[in-house]
Amino acid sequence: MPNIAILGSTGSIGTQTLQVLDRLPNYKVFGLSARSKVTLLSEQVEKYQAKVAVVDLASDVNTLMASSNASVYYGEAGLCELASHPDVDIVVVALVGSAGLKPTLAALEAGKRVALANKETLVIAGHHVMKYRNQIIPIDSEHNAIWQCLDGKNRDDVASIILTASGGPFYNSQNDLSKVTVAQALKHPNWDMGGKITIDSASMMNKGLEVIEAHWLFGMDYDSIEVIIHPQSLIHSMVRFIDGSILAQLATTDMRLPIQYALTYPATLPSQVSPVNLWELPNLTFQKPDLVRFPCLSLAYHGGKIGGTMPTVLNGANEIAVSMFLSDQIRFTDIPRIIENTMANHQPILHPTINEILAYDQTSRIEALEFATILKGRMKNI
Ligand code: MG
Repeated sequence: MPNIAILGSTGSIGTQTLQVLDRLPNYKVFGLSARSKVTLLSEQVEKYQAKVAVVDLASDVNTLMASSNASVYYGEAGLCELASHPDVDIVVVALVGSAGLKPTLAALEAGKRVALANKETLVIAGHHVMKYRNQIIPIDSEHNAIWQCLDGKNRDDVASIILTASGGPFYNSQNDLSKVTVAQALKHPNWDMGGKITIDSASMMNKGLEVIEAHWLFGMDYDSIEVIIHPQSLIHSMVRFIDGSILAQLATTDMRLPIQYALTYPATLPSQVSPVNLWELPNLTFQKPDLVRFPCLSLAYHGGKIGGTMPTVLNGANEIAVSMFLSDQIRFTDIPRIIENTMANHQPILHPTINEILAYDQTSRIEALEFATILKGRMKNI
């Protein structure tokens, strides 16, 4: 009976993981964590009788202690303690952004299976994380699909991997991207996800980060990672083989499928997700990505190819730009400008240590914030 820890249990992936676990009686929820939704966390701890809860702030510890019998830890050290707890078998990392790095490494170093939904950890520290490649199973739907297509295949037979991208809400629209609102950007056509990743989908940075994620997970050169726009989000990704054939994974657009597969791998179990009725599907269409209108994708390929600390800077600048866009301080089209500017000012270090990665994560955010503040001033003056 595997014990599960969910880091980030109140977010979109975290709550869907709990829905999956509701149908897997042989899996036990051992530990849960949340950053700000402390009330929801205490309800989850109560419902699942979790043994450990982790909150972000020391001041929230008493709230949890008052309402449950769980041991309560806090902060990054608390997340690492839960992730490496001797009683935990599988750690679901559903944290947002670079905050996932240290807890993921703590879990891997302790020998846990990690079901990884936090792509930023691979983007900034893929060369460290992939030392533990046999312990990692991706939850990201595209990578989970590729994982399935590659199962049992010889890697030398793979010509390229093909990541599908919905294109987000603006891809086939006539919208002037410099004028789109936060509410418009948050309306993803196919997926129901958290705020940060939904904005990343609209800018196509999400696909850019996924290209870097795929580079590390599957050991593929950037020239062998293709991106194709597939607005229906029904084929979750594909693998092209050297003989010209392509294997695709097609399923209902529902994150509970890749979550369940990551938990039960190598077993496939029945799920609560409704099956695809092929005769009811819309036409499946494919387009080449528009790199001029959506420059974030090119920036990610560029940052990934340079490597070292450059993807860290790309990611840090993006996190700042997205949070400023979400709080209505900059325009949507400022997001790639901020990232490009921050990358242009960075002298990358190849093979950085974890401490160097975290240091550049911080400095890139400060630089991005400074440049974003200038853009914000301009926006006010218009
Ligand atoms: Mg994805």
